[in-house]
Amino acid sequence: MPGTSTTEINCVKCKRLYEAEVIDHIDLSQDSDLIKKIESGKVNRVQCPKCRKVQYLDRSIVINFEPQNIIAVYDPEAKSNAAKEVLQRNFENVTGFNETLSEIGEEIEFQVFVKLGDLKPLLDEYLKLYG
Ligand SMILES: [Zn+2]
Repeated sequence: MPGTSTTEINCVKCKRLYEAEVIDHIDLSQDSDLIKKIESGKVNRVQCPKCRKVQYLDRSIVINFEPQNIIAVYDPEAKSNAAKEVLQRNFENVTGFNETLSEIGEEIEFQVFVKLGDLKPLLDEYLKLYG
């Protein structure tokens, strides 16, 4: 099961504010069926409870490529090097606190992607190898 959280959505059609569950974290060894949805930008689908308008959210998502030991962070907002460095530091903080992760942390390749198109070759390769 992917890691999820609840977030507030502002409906683009009727402007209603509502809460929806969104995917933050995907482990490909368990959820490789989500690859096509990630690639098409449709992994986070939400629907307004009032007017039924469907939206696909372009938001940050963390993807574990197991067994390749790659952690990819897709974040459309991380356009500057400073923003990428913040993500890198956050990752180091997380691995520092988590015992299992800190053991393997040094072997993990951490990559930040701002564009889905740049992430796609990695996902396609994963599908070819393990899908
Ligand atoms: Zn609506």
